[in-house]
Amino acid sequence: MSYFPLSIVSWKEAIKALFLDRVNLVAEYQELIHSPSISMRIPSVVALKEYVVPQKNPPFNRFNLYLRDGFSCQYCGEEGRIAGFREGAALTLDHVTPKSRGGHLTWLNTVAACSSCNLKKADKTPQEAGMPLRRKPFVPSQYNLKRIAKDYPIKSLHETWLTFLGIEEDS
Ligand SMILES: [Zn+2]
Repeated sequence: MSYFPLSIVSWKEAIKALFLDRVNLVAEYQELIHSPSISMRIPSVVALKEYVVPQKNPPFNRFNLYLRDGFSCQYCGEEGRIAGFREGAALTLDHVTPKSRGGHLTWLNTVAACSSCNLKKADKTPQEAGMPLRRKPFVPSQYNLKRIAKDYPIKSLHETWLTFLGIEEDS
């Protein structure tokens, strides 16, 4: 499960889940698939019958970190690029306390940074580099990430999903 309202599963997984009666069919594609015994349309949207309780702490990974930081550089504030959604500088992960000083990649020691700020900061702390953080890094809750994720529609989602997500094409 992801923090976006919907998760992407392969059509094979979706069909398997349908046959196992774990999901309800919400919408389907026009394409037909055939097996020796049946032919059916490929499901495009299925809904889980049971609510899955999300894990308490979101895992630390690149995507979740960028999400926490609103896909923007925590030094200059520039918004980064999101595939299929927004143009901008490529984001990088920055160790607040540099790796060379024993800093690790953790929620509290990592921020999203544009590549030029990352290069400029180099092996310094924000104080030494004269680059104050816009916001102190924190461990986000599921709720934090879910709320931020709502602002970041992924354009590459199949158009049939947009109806269910209430996402408008950006003009
Ligand atoms: Zn920057």
